[in-house]
Amino acid sequence: MAVAYNQRTHHCAALQKGDAGQTVTLAGWVNSYRDHGGMVFIDLRDHEGLTQLKFNPDTDPKAHQIARGLRNEDVIAVVGTVALRGENVNPKLPTGEVEVECHEIDVLNKADTTPFMIEDDSDANEDLRLRYRYLDLRRPSMQRTFRLRSKLGKTIRDYFAERGFVEIETPFLTKSTPEGARDYLVPSRVSQGSFYALPQSPQIFKQLFMIAGFDRYAQIVRCFRDEVLRGNRQPEFTQLDMEMAFVKRDDVMAVVDGCVERIFRECLGVEISLPIATMTYDEAMNRFGVDRPDTRFGLELCDLTEMLTDCGFGVFGEAIASGGVVKAIVVPGGESLTRKVSDGLAAELRGIGAGGLPYTKVTASDGGVAFSTGVAKHLASECGAICERLGARAGDAIFFMPGRFKDVCKYLHFVRTRLAEITGVVPKDRWELLWVVDFPLVEWNEEEKRFDSTHHPFTAPLDEDVHLLETDPGAVRSQAYDLVLNGEEMAGGSIRIHRQGVQKKVFELLNISEEQAHLRFEHLLEALRFGAPPHGGIAFWST
Ligand code: ASP
Repeated sequence: MAVAYNQRTHHCAALQKGDAGQTVTLAGWVNSYRDHGGMVFIDLRDHEGLTQLKFNPDTDPKAHQIARGLRNEDVIAVVGTVALRGENVNPKLPTGEVEVECHEIDVLNKADTTPFMIEDDSDANEDLRLRYRYLDLRRPSMQRTFRLRSKLGKTIRDYFAERGFVEIETPFLTKSTPEGARDYLVPSRVSQGSFYALPQSPQIFKQLFMIAGFDRYAQIVRCFRDEVLRGNRQPEFTQLDMEMAFVKRDDVMAVVDGCVERIFRECLGVEISLPIATMTYDEAMNRFGVDRPDTRFGLELCDLTEMLTDCGFGVFGEAIASGGVVKAIVVPGGESLTRKVSDGLAAELRGIGAGGLPYTKVTASDGGVAFSTGVAKHLASECGAICERLGARAGDAIFFMPGRFKDVCKYLHFVRTRLAEITGVVPKDRWELLWVVDFPLVEWNEEEKRFDSTHHPFTAPLDEDVHLLETDPGAVRSQAYDLVLNGEEMAGGSIRIHRQGVQKKVFELLNISEEQAHLRFEHLLEALRFGAPPHGGIAFWST
């Protein structure tokens, strides 16, 4: 039975009760097969959804005969009449009120038994799914994800095109652009012994576009970084990359705000309010211990250094005496946390280098509060003041961390995140966006005894901090900005250095010798001499 599969009349999520009586042609994959007392039912699947097909041995014996031989994932095309399902409506299916009574069927291809079922809640392991990726991608949830991504691309392109941005492609076989990872190298056949680097980002190119006078550039582009894999890190990933000339930090952030608002609205149906909140790097580190805070929940870090300077508890006193800090997190109602939880957390922390996790619980005592368990006896006399400072009440638990500021931040960020999971305080379906600004321009690399860029070497210092470049580089703040969503860094960028003199100074500070700078960045340094406008941009990352 040849069916004109190239003349499909509908996709598989289209037919509704109003279509009853119509003759239709559908094509797709056999999603499931049922034989009910002689009647064969097939759920036919395509990129849009499912439609139930019915094969009746009395009215269409030939088609029925063929249908009986079908198995999952066979590819078929059918012609039939749309009929109401009467009592047997399936409310879960958009086409659940109808079925197609098939008169003709064409088996376009038989399928072997697939290594796993093509269904959303498949329990196939990842290796198997990746080996048969095309089957994995047949699953409806994967189809939805890829379609969402495609829609996202269109939304972004529309947004930037409407605002005068030009999309310009940048080369893959190129020179190194440093973003803090290693380059992938491609040997050149023509120049034996020479290599191309795959771009870690189009950073230098987009700056050159600004110098070339394009004014506004945006591109969705592949980038390559040879670094250790993580869930949100892949060797090859996609950026939404953009750059603007004659702008200050707030201008770039406002364009991004609008873009994010549009993406949420058009792609997810979620309204977000603008402007997106801003927090300085210092505040983020102090309150959350990390430069990408998850602001969906509390459990903030609180500094106790000053009040504990003279405390008798050795570990705390020593940390403070050697220039460190003591910080704490209060868990409201945390007295119900078991010993197993606090010991478990301490063990996890030791795994990432911490010495331990001092903690205690707050109980009511003589109309006031007292500490019980853990480090209670060491802090008995400070109890009232600590609780007042932390706003801690009877029934709460307190976790402390003494040490160097950086370490305390790292460990308490870890504790905060784990405690949020354990106590279930992370709200579901909530989107918390946050700009983090005023990052330090450079960070001291203790191992290599030199400064590294916090972002990349082209990031401009804050105007008011330029004078500190030579005298106190660690105190220089940059004109960088990161966009954080629910504790994940989703974009980062900066206003760039547009004067050659400042760029040279920053290279010096980063210990990039004149020779190195010449070899690696000469093209940029040279371009800065020929009328580079002030400019800045940002990139969003996605896997
Ligand atoms: N090129 C930077 C990055 O990939 C982003 C930017 O500064 O625009 O991290």
